[in-house]
Amino acid sequence: MVLTLKVKNPRVPLTELEQSAFCTTEPLDTKPLIEELKAGVRWQQLPDEYVHLDATQLRARIGEARRKLGKKAVVLGHHYQREDIIQFADIRGDSFKLSQLAAQQPDAETIIFCGVHFMAETARVLSQAHQRVVLPNLQAGCSMSDMAPTGDVEDCWDDLTNVLGKGEAVPVAYMNCTADLKALCGRNGGIICTSSSADKTVRWAYDRAPRVIFFPDQHLGRNTGLKMGIAPDEMVLWNPFKALGGNTPEQLKKAKLILWKGHCSVHTRFTVAQVQKARERYPGVNIMVHPECVNEVVRIADHVGSTEAIVRTIAAAPKGSVWGVGTEINLVSRIAHENPDKTVFCLDPIVCPCATMYRIHPAYLAWVLDELAAGRVVNEITVGEETARYARIALQRMLDVG
Ligand code: SF4
Repeated sequence: MVLTLKVKNPRVPLTELEQSAFCTTEPLDTKPLIEELKAGVRWQQLPDEYVHLDATQLRARIGEARRKLGKKAVVLGHHYQREDIIQFADIRGDSFKLSQLAAQQPDAETIIFCGVHFMAETARVLSQAHQRVVLPNLQAGCSMSDMAPTGDVEDCWDDLTNVLGKGEAVPVAYMNCTADLKALCGRNGGIICTSSSADKTVRWAYDRAPRVIFFPDQHLGRNTGLKMGIAPDEMVLWNPFKALGGNTPEQLKKAKLILWKGHCSVHTRFTVAQVQKARERYPGVNIMVHPECVNEVVRIADHVGSTEAIVRTIAAAPKGSVWGVGTEINLVSRIAHENPDKTVFCLDPIVCPCATMYRIHPAYLAWVLDELAAGRVVNEITVGEETARYARIALQRMLDVG
């Protein structure tokens, strides 16, 4: 019999301090969790025996639990996870691809999502009825997702409906948000997008209404709008701490694109100065950045693309080419390792992993796998039936757009 320990899904907003807690000039080698616990972030408690194990002991422990579980558990590793997690991943990729592929493996009763909370929720929404989803560390949230609390976005939507009238705006949510917000889109004629489908989905939205409210990432929204020819003065920022987001009713009526004031703490670290420095140091360097970067950086980059696009583009690039990359350091290091015939480096000279992704320390993976092998489920992520139904509607619209 499998015993499920009920846990409350985390809703702890991350602080600015936490976002840079793991920035270092040293290599990112896994230390026993007891040492990493010194970083000023919130950690989920786990049994004491796990916190002292070093990387080699943890590898052995995870390998043993995986052997016992066989195909009953599938481990998903997001591109931004550390190497000591990725080596155990059955599938690696971006969040949406992982969720889709896991759902296609009926033997896998348990999907262990090594990523962050909204990703595990998406996997839960897309998975089959007999599957369950586990997030190894419940404190692995996402600062961007936290910047759009459900109540604040619902208030914004009500305000917009009052000011503009019904049917005058379409909600477009980036994948990096809670299941509640995906459901809000499903319920209100909206759609979800990934960083690679933002153009198509925003165009889909403009076929249905004269305005779009894009959340939670203002930068992906702005970069998408500018690419489509929307002028900067046709965009307004919605600050959830101000009445009407800091706008007048007239400004909202004039706006074509309303951008939620959220951002990614990793991608907003990349600057114009870093790009210039890379070009001085490596004449002919190819600069490729993620569309969550600020527009000043996106504008001067040679290539802009999602994590999957960055992996693909550099893999297909000619031997000897040089790449300055603006995305999370664990992914950049892996691309560099897997492309030894090219020079690949991160634009940011400080090693700054995503502080929430980094909380999936191998000790947590070992713990959830050991528990599972013993017939107990810890850290299960659940989504209410109605929320899941509406979230699926919004996700399906995205898939239909192609
Ligand atoms: S990289 Fe940015 S958007 Fe992705 S999980 Fe980390 S904080 Fe969130």
